[in-house]
Amino acid sequence: MAIVYNPQKYKIEDKPMQAFIDEDEIWQLLHANEDPTIERVREVIAKALNKERLSLEETAVLINANDPALIEEIKAAAKELKERVYGKRIVLFAPLYIGNLCINDCTYCGFRTSNKKQKRTTLTKDDVVDQVKALEDTGHKRLILVYGEHPRYDANFIAESVKMVYGVKHKNGEIRRVNINAAPLDVEDYKIVKEAGIGTYQIFQETYHKETYEKVHQSGTKKHYDWRLTGLDRAQEAGIDDVGIGALLGLYDWRFEVMGLLRHVNHFEAVYNVGPHTISFPRLQSASGLNIDPKYQVSDEDFTKLVAILRLAVPYTGLILTAREPGDIRDEILEYGISQIDGGTNIEMKGYTSHKEEQDLDHEQFQISDNRSLSEVMSELVGNGFIPSFCTACYRRNRTGEHFMEFSVPGFIKRFCQPNALLTLAEYLEDYADETAKEKGYALIKDELGNYEDPKFKDKLIERLEKIKQGERDLYF
Ligand code: SAM
Ligand code: SF4
Repeated sequence: MAIVYNPQKYKIEDKPMQAFIDEDEIWQLLHANEDPTIERVREVIAKALNKERLSLEETAVLINANDPALIEEIKAAAKELKERVYGKRIVLFAPLYIGNLCINDCTYCGFRTSNKKQKRTTLTKDDVVDQVKALEDTGHKRLILVYGEHPRYDANFIAESVKMVYGVKHKNGEIRRVNINAAPLDVEDYKIVKEAGIGTYQIFQETYHKETYEKVHQSGTKKHYDWRLTGLDRAQEAGIDDVGIGALLGLYDWRFEVMGLLRHVNHFEAVYNVGPHTISFPRLQSASGLNIDPKYQVSDEDFTKLVAILRLAVPYTGLILTAREPGDIRDEILEYGISQIDGGTNIEMKGYTSHKEEQDLDHEQFQISDNRSLSEVMSELVGNGFIPSFCTACYRRNRTGEHFMEFSVPGFIKRFCQPNALLTLAEYLEDYADETAKEKGYALIKDELGNYEDPKFKDKLIERLEKIKQGERDLYF
């Protein structure tokens, strides 16, 4: 018997929803702070460096700073703040697309329902196992599973696929954290997904500007702006306190979107006492059958500036950059903003096993610009003095949500995240690196050990590193 899907599973029109974006307020703040004086911009930078949270108004000041020398000051301050909060760590993950069926018609996406050129695929259990094995064989420990929006990809389906991924153990490989990027659910459905042991649940608002939102999402469940905007509030209600927000840059004015993202952060902090764990700000890429109106395209100049502003405005929120961006831009903004990147990314359906040289846009969501392998990305990070991290300790020790905020205080990241990054780097070097990479990686670990002043703690760390060399795995603080 054919399965009948209910495309209107959620009776969205009947649900009370409290939207919290005030467009007039955002524009008023942006206009009121046009052409700020040098002194005013420096005052805001100094406040951020003092680790005080910036108000929306102060963020508007930075957004309006256009003097190239001042922008350099913003970037330098962001670099300093980032290093103080995060040290040199960069967290690595990979996306895994589970299915590209979609009932929505987002004008910017290769998966949109009206794109008849897109070949539709949903991974079977065997496919998931094969993709995950291939990812584990390169050294990945953290994945984000990505789904189109379709009644077939309901909460039970998502939960099952998460469990499948955790179940794949190959050689020394295993996935220790599975994040999700999927459609907004209702509270009961989020509970089902939470049960499967997910990390972060990500939903990007795409654009916080309602009129634009309605123009680019004309049909399907996604056409409801408020349902999406309140999507992660329902996740919180269901007990998912680790959430990620995002805006797709290029649909509307980036200055408005940055303010929208920060308004969203403030909403979470005010209501749940914890901000989102991560913010994403992908720039629109070309996709199958797509003509992008370049009106709101974000230049490299504005993009790098906005990343530095976000870093100053929300110092404890993870900032994610993906392989949509070319290597040179990634390398630049890693210095002063980004804390998480993907590596060895392939977004073609079943792409991790097909090893194609060229992208097939009719079998994936959009064009990526960075197709370096994970080992290339790792070498580059180590070469630039960063510590690549596959750490998953906080989530497994329940240090998420409000608890995570308590831990995100000075010292915590250096005491837990930094050593855990070194432990996961050592695992990577033992299991997946060639001799040259291993040598460079261990040289970095040795340098870092030199920075530990507490001899007892340093001994503990050295002991665990030794155990990893002897074959033990998954050691963390
Ligand atoms: N279908 C789910 C949804 O829409 O929420 C999952 C998200 S989709 C597979 C992941 C994200 O990719 C979207 O939220 C959107 O921001 C981004 N995206 C879509 N088309 C894109 C494009 N052409 N370039 C860059 N990012 C794109
Ligand atoms: Fe579907 Fe998501 Fe693409 Fe929109 S962005 S068409 S909902 S996969």
